[in-house]
Amino acid sequence: NPYILSITLLVAFLHTRYHVSFRACALILLVLRLLFAAIPGNMLGADSFPRQLSTVFLDLGLRDRFKVHPICSMCHRIFDAANDSTSLCPDCGNEIYRPLTQSLFRRLFGNNTEEDDESIQSIRQPLVVAPIQLLSNGLQHLFSRPGVVAAVNSWKTRERNTDELRCIQDGAVWNTIKGHDDTLFFFGGDSDKELRIGVSFNFDWFGRKTSNYGPSHSSGAMSF
Ligand SMILES: [Zn+2]
Repeated sequence: NPYILSITLLVAFLHTRYHVSFRACALILLVLRLLFAAIPGNMLGADSFPRQLSTVFLDLGLRDRFKVHPICSMCHRIFDAANDSTSLCPDCGNEIYRPLTQSLFRRLFGNNTEEDDESIQSIRQPLVVAPIQLLSNGLQHLFSRPGVVAAVNSWKTRERNTDELRCIQDGAVWNTIKGHDDTLFFFGGDSDKELRIGVSFNFDWFGRKTSNYGPSHSSGAMSF
């Protein structure tokens, strides 16, 4: 249905580009659904109208490319929710999860007083979480996009003027840094068959609130 598709794309765009909240997106969807229902002619037909932003993302086949991990609010140590049974940070003794209330426990497990560690672990709510994308996954995603390999390759033949600094490639670090084999990292080896990717870490200098390139979190991969 073209009406539903255009609304789906609009809501996904508003959230991704302007950070419109999940709740506000659900409100937009609700109002539009009521408006469409009030228009005579059954414009939506039998197609189902998304009610939540999460349904919009499912319908569009969009998935997060990061994993959400619980972190310690004091020292920012990262935990693995699936495999970590600890509830206190081993470094500073800080609580990682919200306490399970008695009513919530009873609602979930009925009168069963036997503790089911696995079930408890799956419903524990972390106090603070962080979205994390591994560099290897970021690079995989970057190079799966059409044209990226060719674009990176084209930098190998870029003309350089040794008297003028016009690009990071003209700098001393770029031209002297060694690889694992003790030869020049960027210009050694068989450059036709190999891509050498330098990764720079920018500690929150992406300025995600002002940068067009900054997503809603500041992890990512850049190549140059
Ligand atoms: Zn800690």
